[in-house]
Amino acid sequence: MSRIFSGIQPSGELHIGNYLGAVKNWVELQDKEECLICVVDLHAITGKYDVASLAARTREMAIGIIAAGVDPKKVILFVQSHVPEHSELQWLLTTLTPVGELERMTQYKDKSAKYESIPAGILVYPILMAADILLYRADTVPVGEDQVQHLELAREIVRKWNAEFAPDAPVFPEPKPVLSTARRIMGLDGQAKMSKSLGNTIGLLDPPEAVWEKLRPAVTDPARKTKKDPGNPEICNIFTLHKHFSPPATVAEVDQKCRTAGWGCLDCKKVLADNMSAALAPMRARAAELKAAPEQVDAALALGATKARTEARKTLALVRERMGFLPTQGS
Ligand code: ATP
Ligand code: MG
Repeated sequence: MSRIFSGIQPSGELHIGNYLGAVKNWVELQDKEECLICVVDLHAITGKYDVASLAARTREMAIGIIAAGVDPKKVILFVQSHVPEHSELQWLLTTLTPVGELERMTQYKDKSAKYESIPAGILVYPILMAADILLYRADTVPVGEDQVQHLELAREIVRKWNAEFAPDAPVFPEPKPVLSTARRIMGLDGQAKMSKSLGNTIGLLDPPEAVWEKLRPAVTDPARKTKKDPGNPEICNIFTLHKHFSPPATVAEVDQKCRTAGWGCLDCKKVLADNMSAALAPMRARAAELKAAPEQVDAALALGATKARTEARKTLALVRERMGFLPTQGS
């Protein structure tokens, strides 16, 4: 059995890119493998953030994940800051991670470009991510394509650490990524990947009116200037979304009507909006129930943190021992 670790930041609304790229895979894996799913709030404070809403956003992210089908009875679902061992292991790994490797990361380049004075947290973000995974000695990490580079770095950190501190019997496995068929969903702006922090998303819990409001102005194939201009569905983000939310017969119809200018982009978007809203309706209903009982969500997260912490402490004890620290009395 594999041990799975995956995380999501409470940095904004859970969106369909997160769902198709990562969360959907968690739901599939939870019946087969041992899964740890984490709301990574420590990652979400690496840049400027809203202090007043962090706690609520963290709970809401957990609600979204559960509403999407992740069952806290099947997986260990918890909040990263509830398990302080994440930060400790991060420091231990920071000491052997080359700055040059961190500066090479695409996400670092993108996110740091927005700052005049770059917070070090943005640079060391991938080390915290490596610590998240290594703390549970997870071997498999379901992620979207944007995180594959960070995972490569995590594997490099594993190799370095094992070679330095456990040359005979490696402590950490090299974690491998699992990608879904939707490894990179583009944003509605058609410019960048759909991202919580870019405001180019459709929320997983958006009601039908909001889905339509966001889809209506979304970028399509630029060749379709008017209804009479035929398009190429292969380069249209709306077509990609149809493939994930519409039945095969509709996908075939969309393909044909786009290529032959049989309908306009708005007609195409309307069908998508209806199919998407139908798919999201049960999740919205479940989320509404959970929002009405926040204490149950908090209790599930507390239980998850207790379970995660038991595992985390075991790993850290081993790591401390291998790295030569003086044990505390009684440990
Ligand atoms: P932020 O903009 O704050 O970085 P995000 O939308 O990128 O937020 P994360 O919390 O960083 O979301 O990532 C959670 C998971 O969702 C990761 O596994 C990531 O690879 C995946 N993911 C994020 N965006 C997409 C996308 N557009 N398509 C597919 N997977 C995605
Ligand atoms: Mg991200």
